Amino acid sequence: MKFNKNLENIKTYEAGKPIELVVREYGIEPKDIVKLASNENPYGTSPKVIEAVSAIVSKMALYPDDSMIKLKKALSARFDVKDENIIIGSGSDQVIEFLIHAKAHEGSKILMNSITFAMYEIYSKHVGAEVIRTTSQEHNLDEFYELYKKEKPEIIFICTPNNPTGDALDADEIYNFLNKIDSDTLVVIDAAYLEYAVLKDSKKKIVVKNLITKFDNVIYLGTFSKAYGLGGMRVGYGVADAKIIKELYKLRPPFNITTLSLEAASVALGDEEFVQKSVTLNFEQMKRYEEFAKEQKIDIINSYTNFITLCLNSSQNSTKISNQLLQKGMIVRDLSSYNMNAIRVTIGTQEQNSRFFELVIQFL
Ligand SMILES: *Cc1c(COP(=O)(O)O)cnc(C)c1O
Repeated sequence: MKFNKNLENIKTYEAGKPIELVVREYGIEPKDIVKLASNENPYGTSPKVIEAVSAIVSKMALYPDDSMIKLKKALSARFDVKDENIIIGSGSDQVIEFLIHAKAHEGSKILMNSITFAMYEIYSKHVGAEVIRTTSQEHNLDEFYELYKKEKPEIIFICTPNNPTGDALDADEIYNFLNKIDSDTLVVIDAAYLEYAVLKDSKKKIVVKNLITKFDNVIYLGTFSKAYGLGGMRVGYGVADAKIIKELYKLRPPFNITTLSLEAASVALGDEEFVQKSVTLNFEQMKRYEEFAKEQKIDIINSYTNFITLCLNSSQNSTKISNQLLQKGMIVRDLSSYNMNAIRVTIGTQEQNSRFFELVIQFL
């Protein structure tokens, strides 16, 4: 059978290995498995969210509120924007999919960093668009600008902080860049880890209302999967000028967010204390990785997120080490598919991190 030829050279996205799979493949007890591979919040979810969701589980026979009014109100209040500036997706991943389908087509060019979130490329290929990449490992906006002038891309992706490297741009740099981009080019600011970045360095803070008021060609993406501890609920959002949101809505399937997920995200936004605690503990624990890397003479990339990237030296092999860790029940992310001899480790709880150090030291 023939399929859409655009699918021919797409590699299926490799999500962090699920715990269930490691149980089956290696016969390890679930309690002995530590997953530091998908940048989930190791402190779980706010107890207020769990309570609120538990209280409405019986509502699952009914379709969710497709206007998503409660969550939209909570988000518009948070960012001081209007409901018409917001779209909610099944993860911000889904908003990325809408964006690419709304703006790009066969032959369009889409500009992104050399190493960045893999889904941008996959969705680009769906529509037959051409992916243009910078060469620098970290976002270099001068290089982005040069390529923008040369290639005239339809969409530019800025991932800050960047996944899988963890580096982040200052808001000023982003503003200077946006000032030079014409209003027909859609610029996506993927800020999945921004809650982490702003605690470490206030220069990373992006004021969403200013951003979208000043630039009607820019969309800001956020997610509940990371700092808010709701990876399993699949909720993300985009904030932009109403004209962009209106186009994205044409691509949205009905009821794309479940009743329980909508409730969870709405309540999570109201428990800022939980997020602050998670983010603070994250950077306390990250210090241990920095010290560990120093002792072991491993290079790290300064991270503004809830993960850290360990760049191994040439006598070490990231694929081999990740597999050895996996056999011990420790799931991390091998970055060899990004052509990096590196592993990305989500900063876990104190015990999880201790376990990581204890295991990895045997294999280095
Ligand atoms: C995790 C992540 C997302 C989105 O995750 P969802 O769970 O789909 O909301 C988007 N961009 C980056 C860079 C991420 O790391």
